[in-house]
Formats: sequence, C-alpha cells, structure tokens
Amino acid sequence: MNVIIFGPPGAGKGTQALNIVKKFNLFQVSTGDLLRDEVKNQTQVGKDIENIISKGDFATDEIVNELIKNVIFDNNKKNKLIFDGYPRSLSQAKNLDYLLNSSNQKIDYIFFLNVNKDKIIKRIEKRKILEKRSDDNLSTILKRYETYMETTKPVLDYYSKNPNYYEIDGGGKIDEISNKIEQILSV
Ligand code: AMP
Repeated sequence: MNVIIFGPPGAGKGTQALNIVKKFNLFQVSTGDLLRDEVKNQTQVGKDIENIISKGDFATDEIVNELIKNVIFDNNKKNKLIFDGYPRSLSQAKNLDYLLNSSNQKIDYIFFLNVNKDKIIKRIEKRKILEKRSDDNLSTILKRYETYMETTKPVLDYYSKNPNYYEIDGGGKIDEISNKIEQILSV
C-alpha cells in the first residue's frame, strides 16, 4: 500500500510516518529529509537550495519531482511508500498521480493531520531545541505556515474528494493519533 501523510509544518507528519513505517513495513519518503541530505552532502542541488530552505521557501518542482521519481521507480519500494511532505502543491500532486500511474501504482490512503497555528508554533519551537534545523525559527515558521495555507491547502481540496481520505485531529497525544491511523490501515 502507498500512503500520503499531509498537514501543516509541525503537524507531526514525520513522527507518524516513522511509526507507520515500523508497523507496516513501508518506506518513508520525506522530501524535506531528501533535500536536507542534498544540503549536507553539498551536492550542486544542495548548494542551490540551502538558502531557499533556510528562508522557508519551496524548492522548485523540478528538483523535488526528480528526487521523488527516483524513489517511485525503485522496485524494492514499489507499493510500500509513505509520502511525508510531498505533494505540497497542485502541480506536485498531479505529478505524483502521473508517476504512480506510469509505474502501475496508486495511493491507497491519504491522512490529513489537522493542527491549529498556535499549537504548531509551540511544537516547532520545541523541535528547534531538539533537532537544530535552520528553518525552525519564528519568522521562518510563520512564513512556512503562510506558504502552506496558500500553496498546500489546494492540494487538500484535491484529495478530500478521494474515498480513502481521512482527516485526523493532529493536536492530541502522539500515541492516540498513531492508534487512529493504525486502526484505519489495519482494516
Ligand atoms: P519539511 O521537512 O517537510 O518540513 O520540509 C522542510 C523544507 O524543505 C520546506 O520548508 C521546503 O523548503 C523544503 N521542501 C520539503 N518538501 C518540499 C516539497 N514537496 N516541495 C518544495 N519544497 C519542499
């Protein structure tokens, strides 16, 4: 099965994705992690996007779609993918449909973790201390939230019509959220 986990920055997508990976033997595809790896390894892509990510702007579709394409066409990972942080725009969602179709795959579950802005700010301020990410400061958080509202929210409208779309209250305890997701995936 292939799963999308969707929600604003700080909604807990990465945490929940990790749990699903362990329980259901899937592979996590975090475009944020893939991009941070490029920066860490100082590849050409990494050099091009370092500033963009730090400011809370999006990497170009061209860069992100190429990273995603490699994962989707990896036979070891076929039908075992959980997308975290992708797609983030309508054009990425359409590209994902295209790539999945071309590789005889589909999305089986879409989860939207709904969390309000105040809670997100508190969570990201905590994460800043733990993970020391360059984009976890207040002005960047606000910028990322705005970008999410503008560019990523339309993706939600696109997916919410899908029969396998589930909205989950992402403001609660980690274990409770994991249990809800696991119950749906176990049916
Ligand atoms: P994340 O770890 O998902 O919060 O992503 C961290 C940052 O990486 C984002 O704020 C963007 O700058 C960049 N990024 C991650 N995923 C994408 C994507 N699908 N499209 C464009 N930029 C992305």
